[in-house]
Amino acid sequence: MSEGCTHDCSTCSENCSSRTEPQDLTEKLNEYSSVKKVIGVVSGKGGVGKSTVTSLMAVMFSRMGYHTAILDADITGPSIPKAFGIKEKALGSEKGILPITTHSGIDIMSVNLLLENENDPVIWRGPILAGTVKQFWSDVVWENVDYMFVDMPPGTGDVPLTIFQSLPLDGIIIVTSPQELVSMIVGKAVRMAQMMDIPILGIIENMSCYICPDCGKKHYPFGESKLEKVAEEYGLNILARLPIDPQNSSACDNGKIESVLNPEAQEAAEKIEKLLK
Ligand code: ADP
Repeated sequence: MSEGCTHDCSTCSENCSSRTEPQDLTEKLNEYSSVKKVIGVVSGKGGVGKSTVTSLMAVMFSRMGYHTAILDADITGPSIPKAFGIKEKALGSEKGILPITTHSGIDIMSVNLLLENENDPVIWRGPILAGTVKQFWSDVVWENVDYMFVDMPPGTGDVPLTIFQSLPLDGIIIVTSPQELVSMIVGKAVRMAQMMDIPILGIIENMSCYICPDCGKKHYPFGESKLEKVAEEYGLNILARLPIDPQNSSACDNGKIESVLNPEAQEAAEKIEKLLK
């Protein structure tokens, strides 16, 4: 050990014999699980449609013939089970916790599938939230999953950071609203992924415009989109622009997301499939 050693290799510049390499913080999968690709869906703030996009991507990949799963890591705002109309609770087995499988065959794990009353708030501190997500990865039996979508907690705080480090993400999709694009929030999400060395598959602008059902004219209630400018600034692929679609929100509210036809989301899924091949 050299004289200047601070006993903390992450900050010490000495090159002594006791120097330890950076640790791999990735959690191990359950021994009965197999997950080929893991895609995180992130947003700078809540309410922009991250859970909707996560659900739509899982539905589109499932329609493309893949065995798909959703890990709902948005522990304090879990909305995935509702979108799929799941009422039953998850059960345990000798192998681990079993996900709930939707009508079309998508495997789902969410804190709402474990809470006695899904309306109870989850009032847990950061380490417990992050620990729960790690357990969703390591204690749930994810059998033969081709694509897993992780609905990340919004923002760039402690919990998303721990999840970025704990799950072997193959890439992330950034979901944004037109309003968010004018702020610095998207830039922060981009830089966080870059600092963590996680590939950004692209950006999806949700609630991009409203298409009048009578005349087909596009309206921009949040102002003209800045998507192209922001995508260019950060070197991001534009995966889709999803219009405000009342059918979308009613499908989410009524547990019918699997019946939604959404050509823009379908196109985004095909782009992602190509990027990951
Ligand atoms: P987040 O996960 O970012 O908090 P959600 O996906 O839960 O956001 O969406 C917030 C609300 O907006 C939900 O009620 C959802 O149904 C609705 N919503 C999301 N995207 C659209 C859209 N493109 N058109 C209409 N409603 C939408």
